[in-house]
Amino acid sequence: MNMNLQGPIVQVSDVTKAFGDNQVLRGVSMTVNKGEAVALIGPSGSGKSTLLRCINGLVAADGGKIEAAGHAVHALRTNEDRIALRKDVCMVFQQYNLFPHMTVLENIMLAPTQVLKQDAEEVRERANKLLEKVRLTGKEKAYPGHLSGGQQQRVAIARALAMRPSVMLFDEVTAALDPETVKEVLATIRELVEEGMTCILVTHEMRFAREVAHQVYFTDKGLIVEHGAPAEFFDSPKDARTREFLGHVL
Ligand code: ADP
Ligand code: MG
Repeated sequence: MNMNLQGPIVQVSDVTKAFGDNQVLRGVSMTVNKGEAVALIGPSGSGKSTLLRCINGLVAADGGKIEAAGHAVHALRTNEDRIALRKDVCMVFQQYNLFPHMTVLENIMLAPTQVLKQDAEEVRERANKLLEKVRLTGKEKAYPGHLSGGQQQRVAIARALAMRPSVMLFDEVTAALDPETVKEVLATIRELVEEGMTCILVTHEMRFAREVAHQVYFTDKGLIVEHGAPAEFFDSPKDARTREFLGHVL
């Protein structure tokens, strides 16, 4: 299938970002087409999380342009602009950050009802469907503390999906999980990709990246060193830094 026919939904052009003297992004460009899953891999500290944060406006880039789901992220001005962006471009983190004093259902319903002011009954219906999708039907009234890490992470994914985003960003969402529960979270993400959700995934799960991603981007020291189709990327990496990294992780 040629994904290009559907056109770019995320376009990152020559983005730079420094924290003080630390130049974290040095001119990063990336194109994600609608319906594509992009795996972003690279050593710790190479700027992967910062790039995701720039894409959903949690961090302001210093230079360059970012267009995401129809939003000019580099030109965000108001809080309303940021809310509108984060409705369409949702992020899931390594630490799921569920509200511990709220039930699963309340966690999922919070932003659509309180931030987007959507009708509670309509949101509840959607939330129940999403719980079914992430295979947590029956846990509506459970508190996060009573769920496994993998279950909590699937609630966090359902919570993001409740916004009905066009792009999902996943930042090492399985890195803090027990090996048994990693699989169920990856299965959920795989299903989303198969349904055509556009995803950017920062991950250390190389086999998953190879199987699920349409494109792989490799970052090192704030630069995209190499990108391509997974088979090509993993079987015949061109850059020495990619080869060295894959030599350690594969
Ligand atoms: P990765 O996700 O690839 O591990 P990060 O984007 O988290 O990399 O971090 C890249 C660099 O930016 C690191 O040196 C990190 O310490 C620094 N950094 C990230 N966020 C901040 C911040 N909010 N303030 C200062 N430095 C930061
Ligand atoms: Mg990171």
